[in-house]
Amino acid sequence: TRILGIEGTAWAASAALYDSESDDVYIQSDAYEPDSGGIHPREAAEHMHEAIPRVVADVLEHARETADSASEPRVTDGSDRSSSRQRDSPIDAVAFSQGPGLGPCLRIVGTAARTLSQTLSVPLVGVNHMVAHLEIGRHTAEFDSPVCLNASGANAHLLAYRNGRYRVLGETMDTGVGNAIDKFTRHVGWSHPGGPKVEQAATDGEYVDLPYVVKGMDFSFSGIMSAAKQASDDGTPLEDVCFSLQENVFAMLTEVSERALSLTGSDELVLGGGVGQNARLREMLEDMCDQRGADFHAPKPRFLRDNAGMIAVLGAKMYNAGETIALEDSRVDPNYRPDQVPVTWRSAESE
Ligand code: ATP
Repeated sequence: TRILGIEGTAWAASAALYDSESDDVYIQSDAYEPDSGGIHPREAAEHMHEAIPRVVADVLEHARETADSASEPRVTDGSDRSSSRQRDSPIDAVAFSQGPGLGPCLRIVGTAARTLSQTLSVPLVGVNHMVAHLEIGRHTAEFDSPVCLNASGANAHLLAYRNGRYRVLGETMDTGVGNAIDKFTRHVGWSHPGGPKVEQAATDGEYVDLPYVVKGMDFSFSGIMSAAKQASDDGTPLEDVCFSLQENVFAMLTEVSERALSLTGSDELVLGGGVGQNARLREMLEDMCDQRGADFHAPKPRFLRDNAGMIAVLGAKMYNAGETIALEDSRVDPNYRPDQVPVTWRSAESE
């Protein structure tokens, strides 16, 4: 199966080709970098408008170049999904991020995907971006039924599979984890994205007291962010604030991840999302997993931050499970939750 994926929920205009036979993932991304402040939805959408056609054209060209060496499209009696690849199409389907994300950006992605699907006469697959963050970890680790910590910019979820859905076991009660860190860095005048700068500054820091808020399986970042801003306004060295911010925020995520492993009885944890690129977070999660004899997997950075590779990989699983959608059902949903998605491809996997 060859799937072209398109991603553009916030800052990454990205397209990818996934070939399930070779397991190759070819990704082209173009990042939106705000001149000042954080992500402005209108500017981000302008970036998508300009960059999505470019990355899609590049990946399509790659698909055409590699189509000859890939398996021939199987033309059968029409009852088999494998027949949908037209003889002159280098892909079997187009998968796109249907949500969650910024509405103006998502609409551009949706339009691009619909256009491509119609032009090439191949089906559309609508992918939930958060489920894709989870599934890329399952795919690269070959884990069967892990708990997943999605630590991304706009979200923070703990997910586990039960009865046909990925259930949200715990989540942030306010902002996403990356956005919380970015709000702090904006306050101190650092450019977006703030996460890598906090990680860098934290290497020389010492611990100062900041709030730590975990309520059952849920957690909150707003108090700690206000306290961190206040501490820096009061003259606490920035490296100490960054160090303490990381220690508390990541310990909170580690605590709830451990609780989720204990609750589900799973001994597999996968990490997803752009904040997963942080070495200190990975170290804490790995230590916790070691101590309880669980396996831990963090995908490579190119699969952690937003990327169309994860959309194409999940798109292939969904396509093979028959999860294509009609044009009239392809509206994007900025608030699309992971637990709204019927997970039909896992039963297809085990057949
Ligand atoms: P979502 O996937 O929820 O839509 P998103 O689109 O903002 O979120 P991601 O690519 O998953 O995007 O994550 C981006 C976030 O990751 C930013 O907030 C950024 O500051 C953060 N980030 C990137 N690198 C690091 C790092 N090394 N340490 C901590 N945070 C990081």
